[in-house]
Amino acid sequence: MTDRSPAGAVLILGGTTEAQQLADALQLSGIRVVTSLAGRTSDPHHPAGDLRVGRFGGVEGLSTWLQAHQTPAVVDASHPFAAQMSDAVAAACSRTGTPLLHLERPPWTEQPGDRWHRVASLVEAAALAPVLGRRAWLTTGRQGVGQFAQVADCWFLIRCIESPASPLPKHHALLLARGPYTLLDELALIDEHRIEVLVTKDSGGAPTEAKLAAARQKGLPVVVVGRPASTRTEASMVADVEQAAVWVTARVRPSLL
Ligand code: NAP
Repeated sequence: MTDRSPAGAVLILGGTTEAQQLADALQLSGIRVVTSLAGRTSDPHHPAGDLRVGRFGGVEGLSTWLQAHQTPAVVDASHPFAAQMSDAVAAACSRTGTPLLHLERPPWTEQPGDRWHRVASLVEAAALAPVLGRRAWLTTGRQGVGQFAQVADCWFLIRCIESPASPLPKHHALLLARGPYTLLDELALIDEHRIEVLVTKDSGGAPTEAKLAAARQKGLPVVVVGRPASTRTEASMVADVEQAAVWVTARVRPSLL
């Protein structure tokens, strides 16, 4: 695909609601932005500003892209589990001297009444889920479903935005849906499918948090997959869109007004 991204625009690494909100806010304040998506979703939301889709080609490719587009600053607003991208952009920005900010939503926090089982990986989640229940609700995203394909002694409700490309578990139902979801939505789903255990990544954020409240209300165990380690550092990290907009505005002069 030809990359027609304009020169001099702030690069936002996207794939999250926060990335869209930041693009909207910056464009509105007269700062030109280009959002980059990996291309995993066939019909993504189009944020304000320019959009490019597809891989950069590792640290080398991204460094070349940043220089060719005279990128004044980068905000890594990719998903908390997109660790490869975050590591690559940290290395490319360090190499090219491009200012970088990570925008990462805080993890969810355990509440009284929760029955969370924290694990470090999807592999561990696939081993633990059938021990905790015979009917599991899988909300780990289409890319992670393959890790559960060999689990035969459990039925899965798989909810994701698009059909997974990987093999699916033998016993399952596939529900294609895009959040946000309400507590009532989630309680109804638990009842309808007689769910006994919920499996989730610790993605954080309000739009998909209701499932945790629903599990709490129903007294269900929840397998929570922890975030991968990455080179994101607190020194260059903010937790919300407003702080990210302030950081960009302090570095980049509006040019669209
Ligand atoms: P990842 O493992 O960190 O990235 C794998 C490779 O995909 C990267 O090395 C990069 O390829 C390319 N890539 C990732 N994000 C990109 C972006 N925004 N623009 C251009 N290329 C990108 O990432 P992932 O977990 O596969 O996630 C892919 C995308 O989906 C991310 O944008 C992320 O924000 C979004 N997403 C991920 C999850 C999740 O649970 N992982 C959930 C929701 C949304 P090159 O090195 O070749 O450039």
